Amino acid sequence: MQLYNSLTHKKEEFYTNEPGKVKIYTCGPTVYHFAHIGNLRTYIMEDVLVRYLGFLGYDVLRVMNITDVGHLSSDADTGEDKMLKGAKREHKTVMEIADFYTKAFFSDADKLNIKRPDVTQPATGCITEFIDMISALLEKGYAYQAGGNVYFDTSKLDKYYVFGEHDAEDLEVGVRDGVEADGNKRNKADFVLWFTKSKFEDQELKWDSPWGYGYPGWHIECSAISLKYCGEYLDIHCGGIDNQFPHHTNEIAQSESYLGHKWCNFWFHVLHLNTASGKMSKSSGKFLTLSVLEEQGIDPLAYRYFCLNSHYRKNLVYSEEALENAAKAYKKLRQRCAALKDEGEISAEALEGFRSKFKEALDNDMNTSLALTAVYDVLKADENDATKRAAVADMDTVLCLDLLTPYPEEKKEEEEGDPAILAKIAERAAAKKAKDYARADAIRAELAAEGITLIDTPQGTTYKRG
Ligand code: AMP
Ligand code: ZN
Repeated sequence: MQLYNSLTHKKEEFYTNEPGKVKIYTCGPTVYHFAHIGNLRTYIMEDVLVRYLGFLGYDVLRVMNITDVGHLSSDADTGEDKMLKGAKREHKTVMEIADFYTKAFFSDADKLNIKRPDVTQPATGCITEFIDMISALLEKGYAYQAGGNVYFDTSKLDKYYVFGEHDAEDLEVGVRDGVEADGNKRNKADFVLWFTKSKFEDQELKWDSPWGYGYPGWHIECSAISLKYCGEYLDIHCGGIDNQFPHHTNEIAQSESYLGHKWCNFWFHVLHLNTASGKMSKSSGKFLTLSVLEEQGIDPLAYRYFCLNSHYRKNLVYSEEALENAAKAYKKLRQRCAALKDEGEISAEALEGFRSKFKEALDNDMNTSLALTAVYDVLKADENDATKRAAVADMDTVLCLDLLTPYPEEKKEEEEGDPAILAKIAERAAAKKAKDYARADAIRAELAAEGITLIDTPQGTTYKRG
């Protein structure tokens, strides 16, 4: 398999440290809010990678952290902890926020057929490991204490900007929102390993440490958690492209200084989901969640299909229209696949031919859109249904689009209602709440024109046709 490596800027033949075994570390979500569909794009594409490695016969160990402490509002170690921000927003404790949004994240992941990692580790569960690693870095002379914090000393490295696309200027980007640059740093690129109460005094979760009562920096989490579960040699490290700098650059600095040797071979970065106005981000407050898509009548797996239709190393632009078109195409594809009968004798030769086209696509730096084309080619082929069905089943172990499960359209409407009508009902309820009765009445009239009668009950609004 040829896989693009962000570290070397080229596609490389994939190799592992141990034969047949792949150890993958993934930066997990910062659980102060719902994951947006941009975050989910990254996890979908990582899931395809994991599943494809399994398809190729590798024994895969995948580890993911849950960031529930230490990720500050700015990547340059300034501003408030994002978790605290979430807690204040919702008048809850940080741990309540973490618990709620971790569950929400996995619920979204389940709907998208994203396989759960083998290990999921909240950062707050590994404080001892962080302290041990920071102590070792101090001992080896790679870290220093200043102003109550412990910093990593980037001047001790031969090369800090390992991905090659960043420089000191990029750090300015992280210092924003009117917060001042940290005067304790010896070098502009230095970053915090441990914060103490001398700074950010309202931090909710703090722990004892040799350097005072405080909390870890965000970057140390991933280094220590990866080392704990994956050992000294990592095969692939994943994340969204915004993690490359400073987060992954800092992870490499810490881990390799601590270990004294190269740490991870492949760096897999997924490019962003953008809207017409730029990158979708949680901090902007304007973002789409999977639940919002569902309210709009979009099947979560249609969003997976939308993502698979473009290459992970290209920005993907979201628009309602593009997603709706993908949803229509997905529904059609699934209906065609699910309609394949279990008739005829499976042709092993044809099956092998289909499989090799599919592999060719994914072996070329995970070309998922070509892998989808391979499914369409199966449907078009002059083979019996049983062979086609077997080929689709094979490919769907990686694509995970539930292609052989009948599309639940009618059943769904019977049980839960038509999503488009339900969305209108929700819009009408919101209009009523906002005392916009003209809009509420207009929605009722609009639906009546389509033969749909709304029934208001104390429990809410339902509808009937005719
Ligand atoms: P966070 O929860 O902010 O720590 O981010 C979780 C993951 O989503 C990280 O791997 C980010 O790099 C990734 N990510 C953030 N924004 C986007 C976006 N707009 N498109 C794709 N991935 C993103
Ligand atoms: Zn990370």
